[in-house]
Amino acid sequence: MPLINDNFLKLSDSYLFSDIARRVNAFTAENPGASLIRLGIGDVTRPLPEACIEAMHRAADDLSRQSTFHGYGPEQGYDFLIEAIIKNDFEPRGIKLSNHEIFINDGAKSDTGNIGDIFHHDNRIAVTDPIYPVYIDSNVMAGRAGILGTDGRWNGITYLPCNESNNFVPSLPSERPDIIYLCYPNNPTGTTLTKDELKQWVDYALANRSIIFFDAAYEAFICETNIPHSIYEIEGARRCAIEFRSFSKTAGFTGVRCGYTVIPDELTASASDGSPVQLNRLWLRRQCTKFNGTSYVTQRAAEAIYTPEGKAQVKANIDYYLENARIMREGLHAAGMTVYGGKNSPYLWLKTPDGLGSWQFFDILLKKHHIVGTPGVGFGPSGEGFLRLTAFGKRDDCIEAMRRIKATCHD
Ligand code: PLP
Repeated sequence: MPLINDNFLKLSDSYLFSDIARRVNAFTAENPGASLIRLGIGDVTRPLPEACIEAMHRAADDLSRQSTFHGYGPEQGYDFLIEAIIKNDFEPRGIKLSNHEIFINDGAKSDTGNIGDIFHHDNRIAVTDPIYPVYIDSNVMAGRAGILGTDGRWNGITYLPCNESNNFVPSLPSERPDIIYLCYPNNPTGTTLTKDELKQWVDYALANRSIIFFDAAYEAFICETNIPHSIYEIEGARRCAIEFRSFSKTAGFTGVRCGYTVIPDELTASASDGSPVQLNRLWLRRQCTKFNGTSYVTQRAAEAIYTPEGKAQVKANIDYYLENARIMREGLHAAGMTVYGGKNSPYLWLKTPDGLGSWQFFDILLKKHHIVGTPGVGFGPSGEGFLRLTAFGKRDDCIEAMRRIKATCHD
C-alpha cells in the first residue's frame, strides 16, 4: 500500500476561512433577512484596471492569429513583463536587478508556499506571530514544524510575538533561525517597518547567516516615505533575502493570478557538504520542473499595470481602499475602540472590547451588527484578543458598518 506524507495529518482539516463561512452560513440560514457586511476575507471588490482589461483583449487576439500565437512561455516569465517590473518597481528605488533574478508566478501564495522545496527539512524557521497561515502550514507539510502544542504553537517553529507591548514590531530572535519570514506591510496587523527597523533584520540575517523571506504583497499601499517598498532598499539584502510580490491587491488580480519572486544571484545556502549553492539556480531548476509559466494573457495584463494609464488606474483603486481604511479607522476610534493598522495597509487590527476572545467578539459582530470580520487568533496565538477587518469592501458597506458599530456603542 502506498504511504502518504504523514505531515499532512498534523494539519487541522478545516481552514480558518471555512470555519468562518460555516458560522456565517448558519447565521444567514437562521436570519434570512439580515443584511450582512463582509469585511473578513482579504479579497478585492473593485474591477480590474481598464488598461489591464484592454491588454487582455489584445493578448487574446494575439492568440487567435498564427503569426502572434503563443504556446508554452518561458517558465520564469516573459521578458516584456520582467523588464517592466525592473524598470518601474526597482530602478526608481536605486535597486539593480537582472532579468533572470525575477521569476513570474501565478501569485505569491504559490511561491511563499513552495519555496521550502529547495531547503532542507531540518532548517529552523522563525515567524512573526500573528502571521499569514500559509508560511506555517507549508512548513508543517514539509515536516519542518514539529508537533503542535496545546498553546497553539508548533515546537519546531520559533514564534516572534507582535503585540501591543512591542507596537507589533517583532524583536530579533534569541536563538538563531535558518529562515525568517517577514511580511510588511503586515497581514494581519496592518503594521509596517521603517527602514531602520528592517535594516536591523538584514544586519541580523547577514551576521547569523539566516535567510529572510520577505513578503511584500501589500507594498502598493505604502504612502509614507520612510517605509521601504522592497527589502533590497537595505544594503546587504541581496545576500540574505528573497522577496515575494503580488499583483492581487495592487491591481485586483486575485482572480487573474500573477505575482513574482526575486532571488538575487548573491544569495546562497549550504549543501550538506558545506559548499555554497546559488538559490537562484536551484529555484530555476525547481520551476522548470514543476511550473509551466503564467499565461501569456495574464502577463500582458500585468505588463499594462506599468503603463501611464495603468499606473493611474491602479493608484485610483489603492486610494479607494486606503480611504475606506481611513473611514473605518476613524469610525472605530469614534466608537471608542482601539484599532491598529489601516495606514499604509488595507488591514485594520481591532482590539476586542472588554477582554473578549477573538471568536467571542467575532460572534457578537456577526449576530449584533451583522458584520463579518476575521478572528485574530486564526492568524496565531498572539492574535488572540484581536479581530482583523479589511478595507477591501465597498465604500457604502464600510460607512454602514461603522454606523452600526457606533450606534450600538452609544445605545
Ligand atoms: N502573502 C500575503 C501576506 C497575503 O496576505 C496573501 C493573500 O492574501 C498572499 C501572499 C497571496 O497572494 P496571491 O493572491 O498573490 O497568491
